[in-house]
Amino acid sequence: MFSLTLILLLSRDMRYLARMLLHEKTSSPVVLRLGRDLVRSIKRGDPWVYADALRDLPKAPAGSPAVLLDNRKGQAVASGFYDPGCPVALRICETDPAVKLDARWAERRLRCALSLRTPFLRAREVGGDHPVGMTTGFRLFNGEGDGLPGLVADVYADSAVVKLDGRGPTGFWDMAAISAWMADELRLNCVYERVKDRGSVGRSLVGKTPSEPVEFLEHGLRFTADLVSGQKTGFFLDQRDNRQQIRAWSREARVLNVFSYTGGFSVAAGAGGAAHVTSVDVAPAAIEAANDHWLRNGFVDTRHTGVAADAFDFLGQSSQQRQHWDLVVLDPPSFAPNRESVPSAVSAYQNLCEGGARVTARQGLLALASCSSHIDLPTFLQCCEEGISKARRRGTVVTVAGQPIDHPTPLALPEFRYLKFVLLRLD
Ligand code: SAH
Repeated sequence: MFSLTLILLLSRDMRYLARMLLHEKTSSPVVLRLGRDLVRSIKRGDPWVYADALRDLPKAPAGSPAVLLDNRKGQAVASGFYDPGCPVALRICETDPAVKLDARWAERRLRCALSLRTPFLRAREVGGDHPVGMTTGFRLFNGEGDGLPGLVADVYADSAVVKLDGRGPTGFWDMAAISAWMADELRLNCVYERVKDRGSVGRSLVGKTPSEPVEFLEHGLRFTADLVSGQKTGFFLDQRDNRQQIRAWSREARVLNVFSYTGGFSVAAGAGGAAHVTSVDVAPAAIEAANDHWLRNGFVDTRHTGVAADAFDFLGQSSQQRQHWDLVVLDPPSFAPNRESVPSAVSAYQNLCEGGARVTARQGLLALASCSSHIDLPTFLQCCEEGISKARRRGTVVTVAGQPIDHPTPLALPEFRYLKFVLLRLD
């Protein structure tokens, strides 16, 4: 019996180690050389080296392991993996080039990520009274923020979605082995891979492709995520803490949730005792899901109205009709997908904020979020100020917040701290 257990345990370990968790490469690492002195920022933890910072771009497959030499004496300063076709040509995995990037290294990183999710793992195991409440939907791997460049995984109860950020990470990480590891560690019965930039095309790595949205909990509230074709990996897990804020401010309030998607903020407001919640989203399927989530939580359907409409039209018409809500939430999609679009995004945020302010009641609350990494917090606050003053209102900042604990970021990579959430009281 003892030896059988030992063999089983060993074979379990061997399975990952044989698969390596990384794609095995027999050739030696690609040697890259810096064209400028970026050693200081690399040693401080900036994990991205852009193609234009490298002396040359040798031919090699995307995802090839690489060592980086400095621009002076040619000393090795870091190791990672290479993608010659991508603006971020090198993703750094280690700033100590003596450390080998092998299965043991990968497993240490995966375990390290797991240890940051202890509250969520405990919530899955025991439920009940702990810092994240009854929450079974959380981000397990947040790419560079977990020292796992380009690798993202979200857990929804007994299922998970994994996503690789482009060809470099796809060539480097062995997703089949990683998903088998995840399924074992977290006792998952499904791991589905979303393929970036190809719509809903993906593949099941563990178990069957889910035929319907998967139910999970967020602070005790019931939601579903469409793992195969929902936005992001099916749900906006990054707004979890901010939804708790809205829940706390909703008592007896009339709440308007614009860009509601599947009603995350709406259900939170309902749980907080809102008198009535209106959800607005341009996608009819999102409104349908928001209605379903509302009822799934046992709330009375007359307290919720779902509206499939354009946000700007809805706000414009509501303001013309002099409608007001006690609490207004605006959580639009990114208006600035790249640096060039920053000026147009700034005016879109201002207009939106103005529209929101016009329908916020006297002494009411206005919450605005931005997920554009190219708009920093000071710029976003300026947009809020401009929009609110155009609506001839004045604002008091109640809270400024960002991402929750399962979305860690490298200190040296501000782009990763993309989410801004500002709660204001308007006079
Ligand atoms: N607040 C949501 C996430 C919002 S994501 C949550 O907590 O889950 C942004 C949403 O904006 C998407 O659902 C998208 O369908 C919607 N959207 C995009 N453009 C829109 C527009 N012009 N008017 C209304 N909704 C829009």
